[in-house]
Amino acid sequence: MFRPTKKLIGLVLLLSLIFAGSSLARPTVTHARQETITVTANTVNVRMGPGLAYDTMAQLKKGDKITVITQKNSWYQVRLSSDKIGWVASWLLKNTEISSATNTEGTINTANVLAKENPADDSDTLGTLQQNATVTVVYEKTGWSQILFKKTVAWVKSAYITEKKTSDNTTENIQPTVDSSIKSLTLHDDNVKLRSSPSIGGHIKATLSKKSQLTYLATAGDWYKVQTKDGKTGYVANWTATPSTSNKPVTTNANDLAEATIVLDAGHGGNDSGALSQKKTYEKTFTLQIVKKVAAKLRQGGAHVVLTRKSDKYVGLSPRPALAKKVHADAFISIHLDSSPENNQASGTTTYYYGKSKDKPLANALNKQLDHLPLDNRGVEFGNFLVLRDNKQPAVLLELGYINDSNDYKHIHSSSYQTEIANDIYKGLTRYFK
Ligand SMILES: [Zn+2]
Repeated sequence: MFRPTKKLIGLVLLLSLIFAGSSLARPTVTHARQETITVTANTVNVRMGPGLAYDTMAQLKKGDKITVITQKNSWYQVRLSSDKIGWVASWLLKNTEISSATNTEGTINTANVLAKENPADDSDTLGTLQQNATVTVVYEKTGWSQILFKKTVAWVKSAYITEKKTSDNTTENIQPTVDSSIKSLTLHDDNVKLRSSPSIGGHIKATLSKKSQLTYLATAGDWYKVQTKDGKTGYVANWTATPSTSNKPVTTNANDLAEATIVLDAGHGGNDSGALSQKKTYEKTFTLQIVKKVAAKLRQGGAHVVLTRKSDKYVGLSPRPALAKKVHADAFISIHLDSSPENNQASGTTTYYYGKSKDKPLANALNKQLDHLPLDNRGVEFGNFLVLRDNKQPAVLLELGYINDSNDYKHIHSSSYQTEIANDIYKGLTRYFK
């Protein structure tokens, strides 16, 4: 026998109220369907903009509810329960799939419409909207629409907005590209939707459970094209899945490193083997080993880590700073090993920067920690390297010892030396982002 629970009755009542409300409102404007998420980390910073460079305006605590308005550079623009608007790093929130695609576009249909701070006539006026201005409606209640307005939100009477016939989500036009270093993906969230196109508008082909292993096919914007074990192909949001070589993300307390996007660049790769040791081993092998240790350490700290290569493959120089720009890296760290013209001529580590204001503070912060290494610290120097010169993001290049020096080499190929490097970079970044 079916016994409706109190909860269910409540839900039915709520739903009928919502539908009653919307039918009373002008039928041309649909309710923007919003995704509400609950904060699971102990604290998460809310910033004024989508990146670490913006000031913190509030902090969220475990259990707080927020509504996602839009997404940019893997950051979510969110509406807090106080109706304030801010940004949080998407990787610090547990959620399966968020998109702004359900927001409604509209046009102001009246001259000089006032944008109000609150949904009330006597509320403060934030500005005026001209007739035919396009607005994004993020929420509606009691005849008022909340719209995006000058990097925050404002309220406008819903009657002054005419809904636009929206063409489908723009992300569907993104051309997939293949990242050959990714082989497979593991879902780190439950109930992940496998969709027919790289957008939240794509129809759901399957719902996948946590820890599902997927074959990677391509990348399209913030989505991975994948194939499931039972042969279904489709798209999953990239923040629900971890590429094969990386660790699971962890839920951390808010700290600046946890909110940072770090690009780690393993020098050389593939046909470009870099410098040679006396044992005929290659620089490219050790730079990748070191990068993997650093990546694991930073991910443990909650950071969003992106690698320029994850395997022994050739990557040209220009794509490396380009990747940093694309992911809006807060820091780019290139890992190399030095060599001298003759064996056993030189020893020690060097930290290179290019831009005095952009890069040198990062170089100083990291270099200070490298004092813990068993090799001589040769200090911070200007270096005219392409990966630094062409980099729009704060960038450094670390030469972590001379590969053709027998004493340096003993350390370079040891796991304990590589682990110390990871710890030092972690500490240096933590200080740098404070
Ligand atoms: Zn090198």
